[in-house]
Amino acid sequence: MTDSYWLSEPAEQLPRVTCGGPVDVVVIGGGVTGCSCALTLAEAGLRVRLYEARRVASGASGRNGGFALRGLAISYPAARERFGSTAAEALWRFTERSLDRMETLAGDALRRVGSLRLADDEELAAVRAEYEALRGDGLSAEWVDELGSPLAATFRGAILHPGDGSLQPARWVRRLAARAAEAGVEIAEETRIESLEDLEAEHVVIATDGYTHGLLAELDRAIKPIRGQVIVTEPLAETLYPRPHYARHGFDYWQQTPDRRLVLGGRRDRSLETEFTNEESITEPIQAELETFAAELIGEEPRIEHRWPGIFGTTEDELPLVGRLPGRDRVWVSAGYSGHGNVLGLGCGELVAQAILGSPAPELQYFDPARVLYDEAV
Ligand SMILES: Cc1cc2nc3c(=O)[nH]c(=O)nc-3n(C[C@H](O)[C@H](O)[C@H](O)COP(=O)(O)OP(=O)(O)OC[C@H]3O[C@@H](n4cnc5c(N)ncnc54)[C@H](O)[C@@H]3O)c2cc1C
Repeated sequence: MTDSYWLSEPAEQLPRVTCGGPVDVVVIGGGVTGCSCALTLAEAGLRVRLYEARRVASGASGRNGGFALRGLAISYPAARERFGSTAAEALWRFTERSLDRMETLAGDALRRVGSLRLADDEELAAVRAEYEALRGDGLSAEWVDELGSPLAATFRGAILHPGDGSLQPARWVRRLAARAAEAGVEIAEETRIESLEDLEAEHVVIATDGYTHGLLAELDRAIKPIRGQVIVTEPLAETLYPRPHYARHGFDYWQQTPDRRLVLGGRRDRSLETEFTNEESITEPIQAELETFAAELIGEEPRIEHRWPGIFGTTEDELPLVGRLPGRDRVWVSAGYSGHGNVLGLGCGELVAQAILGSPAPELQYFDPARVLYDEAV
């Protein structure tokens, strides 16, 4: 099936809410970011309408690998180099708080089982340095030397991030949307916004990540779509990978579900150029790579029951754009997590909501869209 395993779980009907007439805030995009932002705004008493072109969680939020990781798309040492130790630590702690908040909202859609960042010969020094940097700044991390078969044949060690988790991401975001609707958000599914012009709202929040296209020229330039592909096997006899595992700069990622299916994604580097696209389709070369890798991880060829593509948005510096758009007073954005948006999307959706509510948090400064966007009117 070329559909997301996560989205194949039946969705419950969302509570019906109608605001009628102009609202305080329109949110565009019904993934984790849009739902998070809308929930925080509605809880503060604002009138909010959320538009989703397809169904809630039908974008990357329901098509990803299900890793709930703290941090950013860039490594901790890279964040330290860019922002300094104090700010890097503050950003990591911000995402840890988002994970804790996710745990309070997600119910059984999140399991805090930790994650394993594996290092092969090529990455060993860098991954070990990341471990030292995290520990040096007082952040939790454990070093794992002993890896069982078959991992030990390729990998020399790993960082165990004990607070990370495994998500059923579609269940999680549908739950978040239901919370938002219960708080008073009108959710209009199957409604694509073609232009911001006619939206009757004091503020507009663009939360479309890799599906950002055609709304504003400057966002189309700043956020580039990348396709990721994922497969899911039949339930396996044993649980070999009980937590998220990732390796090779994040190009390979896998984990098993509670019913022992292997979820495996990546291998984008097999064909980097073709994967810079917003075309939501699977391709033979990457699917073949994923199947071969699944057989290596399991020791035999499994039956593949689901295959699907998804699109995420990336920026030049791999940091999201979060905040008000230069030169456009009422327009805000939160997008461009560069493949790392499950936890960041929750946190950054809230950051935008807090800023609209008049209480901008200090973390916003690191994601200011003005670093790459300029005021088109000037
Ligand atoms: C294959 C894959 C694997 C990934 N694995 C992980 C992972 O394991 N861990 C992790 O942290 N991150 C992962 N990511 C990234 C993560 O999924 C995204 O960063 C995150 O889901 C972004 O959420 P979002 O709400 O911002 O955007 P999305 O969930 O993509 O939602 C955007 C929504 O906007 C809607 N939309 C777009 N344009 C319009 C319009 N004009 N009008 C109305 N609606 C519109 C779309 O239909 C879409 O539903 C992965 C991504 C992919 C594709």
